[in-house]
Amino acid sequence: MTAVAPGTTGRQAEHGDVLLRVQGAVKHFPIKQGIVLQREVARVHAVDGVDLEVRRGETLGLVGETGCGKSTLARLIAGLHPLTAGTIEFDGHDLSNLSRKAMRPYRRDIQMIFQDPYGSLNPRRRVGSIIGDPFDIHGVSKGAGRKKQVQELMEVVGLNPEHFNRFPAEFSGGQRQRIGVARALALKPKLIICDEPVSALDVSIQAQVINLLDDLQKEFGLTYVFIAHDLSVVRHVSDRVAVMYLGKVMEVAEVADLYESPRHPYTNALLSAVPVADPDLADRRDRIILKGDVPSPVNPPSGCPFHPRCPKAQQVCVDVMPPLVPAAEFGDPPDHRKACHFPVAEGEDLTLATPGISQVSTEPALDAGA
Ligand code: SF4
Repeated sequence: MTAVAPGTTGRQAEHGDVLLRVQGAVKHFPIKQGIVLQREVARVHAVDGVDLEVRRGETLGLVGETGCGKSTLARLIAGLHPLTAGTIEFDGHDLSNLSRKAMRPYRRDIQMIFQDPYGSLNPRRRVGSIIGDPFDIHGVSKGAGRKKQVQELMEVVGLNPEHFNRFPAEFSGGQRQRIGVARALALKPKLIICDEPVSALDVSIQAQVINLLDDLQKEFGLTYVFIAHDLSVVRHVSDRVAVMYLGKVMEVAEVADLYESPRHPYTNALLSAVPVADPDLADRRDRIILKGDVPSPVNPPSGCPFHPRCPKAQQVCVDVMPPLVPAAEFGDPPDHRKACHFPVAEGEDLTLATPGISQVSTEPALDAGA
């Protein structure tokens, strides 16, 4: 397997029909008060109207700051949370708020790999038993056949099948994540949601796990939703990337379009913060420093939720949430969509922009070269 140099675009491939379609997905978590009569006093707007498509055989990267709703969206897709509103269609079937029983056949097809290879494995259970859990839950295989299948899975993900009876503590961090990958693969799923699968691992181990996921995708025709906050990793693994902010998708595009022509000011700010290996390039480029923190999802800003931090914000941004549409004025392809009233033009210097509204902080909106 060849490694892709940091900063290059790792993937550009043709993909099939739409496997997953999310439309107007909303997830609000109520905040309640009172000991006896628990009254709802507020709501956390974790996911707030997301439209997204994932094509068969592709990897969709999902990025955004902590608390932007990407993990909640993953759990909605996996059926681990009920939707507040909207629909989720998977492989032609409407999965929106199915009962546990009705959801059961689809759980086989949608699996998750979690961030923490330590916390997601029961330390008191043997690895063979952990990997074989999906077989038990879905009544697929028992006895010697089950053991053989588990050992085959261990081999597929690069674990020694002889270690079937070991406990998780006897494996390294990277090996434990391979255990999680083997468990996710057990039922031959169509879609795997990778929720920050490498962020708890050392860099050298990250590369091994990413290469393993890449190999498995090619071998088994898997489709991935890959959640991460490391934009270099997302660039390497993804075919398309969606950028989330405060529960909404702000921009989505083929990986090369997004990294080379980001249209949304938030995407521009995120990308300007990615470390680059070339010191000359690092000196030349202007880093965009966003002011203030991400607003609370309990009381998100009106209109475009990025307006309190956006260097281009105008009154219309406060009043109206822009739709997620292509920037036709720049000739962008139809699948490069951004939710912004004033998208960023090629070569535009956002460090020189001035917001047309008063914002949350008196600090300058942007500092160049910090
Ligand atoms: Fe949002 Fe307006 Fe900034 Fe676009 S220009 S990101 S719509 S605040």
